[in-house]
Amino acid sequence: MTETVLVVPGDGIGKEVVPAAVSVLDAVADFEFVEAEAGDHVKAETGEALPDETYERAAEADATLFGAAGETAADVILPLRQAVGSFANVRPARSYPGVEALRPETDLVFIRENTEGVYKGIESEIDDGVTTLTRVITDDASQKIAEYGFEYADENGYDDVTVAHKANVMRTTDGQFLDSVAAVAEAGGHDYEEALMDALAMHLLLRPEEYGVVICPNLAGDMLSDLAAGLVGGLGLLPSANVGEDNALFEPVHGSAPDIAGEGVANPAATILSGAMLLEHLGYGEEAATVRSAVESVLESGPRTPDLGGDASTEDVTAAIVDEL
Ligand code: ATP
Ligand code: MG
Repeated sequence: MTETVLVVPGDGIGKEVVPAAVSVLDAVADFEFVEAEAGDHVKAETGEALPDETYERAAEADATLFGAAGETAADVILPLRQAVGSFANVRPARSYPGVEALRPETDLVFIRENTEGVYKGIESEIDDGVTTLTRVITDDASQKIAEYGFEYADENGYDDVTVAHKANVMRTTDGQFLDSVAAVAEAGGHDYEEALMDALAMHLLLRPEEYGVVICPNLAGDMLSDLAAGLVGGLGLLPSANVGEDNALFEPVHGSAPDIAGEGVANPAATILSGAMLLEHLGYGEEAATVRSAVESVLESGPRTPDLGGDASTEDVTAAIVDEL
């Protein structure tokens, strides 16, 4: 079977790093690539950042590889995550030999709930100068993220699973979150630790090596995974996945980087590593491992883009990675 992979480069360096990742995927698998448009440049032409056609193609494809959108990021990525039915945002943050990092011993994977929490958009101004926000935590979504997180830890060899919460203050909502996680853990015989999210932020900074998979409600996952990005040295290295029931979207954590767009010097590693996550998701585990080790060996001793202190171009680095495969 030939899987269909939708490719949406978007704006800025998305147009440079997505083709780089496609050339790597093309070297190890036999996908049918379909390209579609989204982002600022589409809005400028048509008035809409995300054409219906792109949305529908993402829903129909086996997986989507997305680059970045500039000003229109929220108008593009939020609906695209919905198009693939994503309930889990998977964000690995690990350091690489040869790449300078604040905490070189970091190997973390954040499993962030991707549908509810404070991101439901239920906000109001109930009086002059008085505003409210409703936080939604359901047993269904919490169990789903817990099941995904425990399974991810088992399949990827992580012994430590931590569940972030703030149930001492948000007693009802995070109380529900913890109860749901506990039910899943008991049914599956999984071990884990609960951690207050504020204290966890500090511990991750001081002793990241003591943690592995971190299962989080939506906002906590957003903030803690950015903190971890800071530990490993640079946005140019961080991939992510938005996983649904039978579809998924893969994207670098970084944005469109307008300051370097068009210069051909963007680091393609984050998007190529997102491509490795895509391979894994579609059942190409061996190919995913091959891509990862090619990226690692180029990061360690190959050409580097300026963000990592080198003077190589996106194309030089991509060619070196393809050579390693
Ligand atoms: P956006 O609004 O699209 O998020 P931004 O200005 O926030 O754009 P980011 O893409 O989030 O830019 O990047 C923040 C900084 O990190 C920029 O200085 C950018 O050049 C740098 N950066 C991000 N991604 C890469 C990459 N792949 N290679 C090199 N530098 C990068
Ligand atoms: Mg940004």
